[in-house]
Amino acid sequence: MYSNILRHPGPTPIPKKVQLAMSQDIISHRSEEFVKLFRETTNRVKPIFGTKQEILLLPSGGTAALEAAVVNTVSPGEEVVVVSIGAFGDYFVSICEKHGFHAHVLRKPWGEACTSEDLATFLEPLSNIKAVFVTYNETSTGILNPVKELAKVVREKSDALFIVDGVSCIGGVPVKMDQWGIDILVTGSQKAMMLPPGLAFVSVSDRAWKVIEENKTSAYYLNLLSYREWAQKGMTPNTPAITLIYGLSAACDLIEAEGFDQTVARHELMKDMVRAAMKALSIGVLTSDEYASPTITAIMAPEGINLSQFLGHLKKQYHLDFAGGLGELQGKIFRFGHMGYCFPSDILQAISLIEAGLQDFNYSFEPAAGISAAQKVFLEAQKK
Ligand SMILES: *Cc1c(COP(=O)(O)O)cnc(C)c1O
Repeated sequence: MYSNILRHPGPTPIPKKVQLAMSQDIISHRSEEFVKLFRETTNRVKPIFGTKQEILLLPSGGTAALEAAVVNTVSPGEEVVVVSIGAFGDYFVSICEKHGFHAHVLRKPWGEACTSEDLATFLEPLSNIKAVFVTYNETSTGILNPVKELAKVVREKSDALFIVDGVSCIGGVPVKMDQWGIDILVTGSQKAMMLPPGLAFVSVSDRAWKVIEENKTSAYYLNLLSYREWAQKGMTPNTPAITLIYGLSAACDLIEAEGFDQTVARHELMKDMVRAAMKALSIGVLTSDEYASPTITAIMAPEGINLSQFLGHLKKQYHLDFAGGLGELQGKIFRFGHMGYCFPSDILQAISLIEAGLQDFNYSFEPAAGISAAQKVFLEAQKK
């Protein structure tokens, strides 16, 4: 059986160089070799986060890192604001509620972004807000929230920490944690970072460390102070995902060889290619151009087609594997992930196979219209 063409918004394909790096012999996490690997590798992740702070590595999925960001900064009974524009914003809401923190939730309809005006208005009547939690890239809808502007609003309107879930975009989009004023930035390995699942990244501002030092959390495994203490020694408190850190080092090689600005430009280009193709095929996309995510596009069910049958057919017939919609968008959209180890050539391939599937379902369109539109965007970008 050939492997699928995995075009999910996570997990995503792994480059061969990363796979090979992960086949190295395991080493002790208390050895000199590990300290060197940890220090070098985390230093190379800093430019991707736009920070000079330590990059803490948790042997976990992204959700554990979100929980760490919540429980280390907030105490029971304290009030926080959570911005939720989709399924992943709701993760923060659930985590806060589970821990007994009072969450004021700013909700926007699925498919919309939270603007700086939305947040400013929401914060206006509130006081004593400990932290504001925001999803940078809402993976359920394909919206990139304007985090730079939201950070500014939080600073102007409150003393709250600004805590950002960057799980499905960091590595593929610009972020300047220090300059923008993000207090905690979190991501995971299996989305734009080109790694298997199982490694999470957390970086913390000086301001947030002060809050964490004063906050008496009962967290043990997710205690960020102990991660900081051990990171200063070039290690982690417990056994880390050593194999994935080897992989991360190779992923950094690839990003540095391409140049991170170029990596960001490639994601932007892939987004434009997908959107142009869908337009040419008269297939809707969920989001406006303004806040469209560079890493995932939510595409509406083509007119007259049963989406679950169509996605099943693409997978069975053409080995092309997309993710369906979550929650209220189930059966209404599918999600085309274009992040990490994904290139314009992969977009052309996927669009060509979508067109093949559309023909199989007798969808009325001009053959190759989507491909030509995507190719045009691609060729124009080459000229720049
Ligand atoms: C995938 C994802 C998560 C959850 O990460 P896991 O590794 O599945 O725990 C959280 N937030 C966003 C935005 C995501 O895309």
